[in-house]
Amino acid sequence: TFITFEGGDGSGKTTLIRSLMDRLERNGREVVVTREPGGSPIAEAIREVILHVDNTAMDPLTEALLYAASRRQHLAEKVLPALARGAVVVCDRFVDSSLVYQGYARGLGIDSVWEINRFATEGRMPDLTLYLDLDPQIGLSRIEASGRRQPDRLDLEGLDFHTRVREGYRQVAAMFPERIVMLDASGDPGPLKEQVWKLVSARLES
Ligand code: C5P
Ligand code: MG
Repeated sequence: TFITFEGGDGSGKTTLIRSLMDRLERNGREVVVTREPGGSPIAEAIREVILHVDNTAMDPLTEALLYAASRRQHLAEKVLPALARGAVVVCDRFVDSSLVYQGYARGLGIDSVWEINRFATEGRMPDLTLYLDLDPQIGLSRIEASGRRQPDRLDLEGLDFHTRVREGYRQVAAMFPERIVMLDASGDPGPLKEQVWKLVSARLES
């Protein structure tokens, strides 16, 4: 079973993923928690190009293709083998991040980014995606309060960019209503963890 978490910066993906992993393991499941590029050296090398090459020279379509290429490698090398041996794979960000960040927020268009990614994944999409919906102002202030620094250039975007990210996520969630569940991430982590657990355990039993 392939589960992904999506959401803007400071939406709490990491905390919820960790708690889900613990609970799945206590239930005797093999869990693989990962995130792109996921420690796959090739996927990592591709991601390096995205993040560290002079970004003014990077064509947006090139960027989208590189994200898709890195995703493909991580999928082939790590996710698919784990799924094949029956593990639950929990991934922090996947195709939806590209639809939102490259497709919507950076303006390439959700449809064209979807085309690239459908090719890259051969249609292997998550079984369940938990989207953590949050006012970006709250997300950014959580990051500030926690003292976490965002190392890559993309996090230097302003509030209007993060507002577009939220709009994009809501559109993508509406495109895939069967797969994506939108959760209100503004509340306490306790009840949110319970919500996540209910959704995931229902999916595992189905
Ligand atoms: O997962 P994390 O929150 O560390 O993401 C880092 C940043 O990388 C995001 O906030 C976003 O700006 C950027 N990103 C992106 N396109 C993706 C995935 C991430 O622009 N497909
Ligand atoms: Mg981040």
